[in-house]
Amino acid sequence: MLIIIGNTKIGKALHVNLPLGAPRGLKFEAFISGTCPGASLWCLENCYGIDRPPSEDPESLEALKKAIELSLRDLKAFKEAIVRELLDKGRALEESGDTLDDGSVPVRLHIVGDFYLPDYARTWLDIVDELRGLKFRFWTYTKSWWMEKVAETYAKIRLSNPKVLAEELFDMLQELRTRNNFKLYASTDKTMPDITKRPEMRGWLEAGIEFTYNEKSITCPEIPCVACKYCIYGKGHVKFMERRNKVRPIPKPWKTPLSPREWRILLKAKREEIEWYIKSLKLLQNPL
Ligand code: SF4
Repeated sequence: MLIIIGNTKIGKALHVNLPLGAPRGLKFEAFISGTCPGASLWCLENCYGIDRPPSEDPESLEALKKAIELSLRDLKAFKEAIVRELLDKGRALEESGDTLDDGSVPVRLHIVGDFYLPDYARTWLDIVDELRGLKFRFWTYTKSWWMEKVAETYAKIRLSNPKVLAEELFDMLQELRTRNNFKLYASTDKTMPDITKRPEMRGWLEAGIEFTYNEKSITCPEIPCVACKYCIYGKGHVKFMERRNKVRPIPKPWKTPLSPREWRILLKAKREEIEWYIKSLKLLQNPL
């Protein structure tokens, strides 16, 4: 099993994960311990995956290990397994009525982990193309757009031609962005370059920590993504308030992954509690 259904942050969406953090070790083996070649200084100090698995499901860590092992060993087998599982699990969500309002199945890549090599990103392009026309909506956030950092990381783990590889990875991400069923955000933070000053980043959606380099962005309301849907549909730039110290201590009025249908039921039953949650978040973001 490589795909997990839901967590309390994204709600009942399908997700695929890889090991978090910068690769450690040598050559391709290095990715077994971390798949984020564009990991920034902020990431290394604050990654939200450090103290929490990408799902409450105990099988999620096992799935993450299998995903990196299979994708490193045999990308064709990885692609086939992912397509098979997406079809199976997507059908299950459709049958239980747990899809988005337009009937589509949301798929989040890399709650932890990132596009770690061009061939891996190319495989996702193939998967997305193969499933085009079916009701899947993919979305994710990546730091692999930061070519200099990716090349530096590749050089550190002794891959040949690090600069060329980093450029190839970027080209793959550019290609993924053009697909209607895939929303790709450039993840940014204060320890990374200003993407608005980079011509190659023109037109990218941005997801920043506490601010975005782009002027206009919304603050993530931290409700289940399947209820909010802003990023799933790629509606615009978004910023996240630093979660590790600030947002997490607020108890969420929901404790399990929710589908849009289940969210609507909960919202009716617990409107006051949810309003209190959102008000508390806003206070944290804009202290009096
Ligand atoms: S803005 Fe909405 S869709 Fe995006 S991460 Fe936050 S809750 Fe999820």
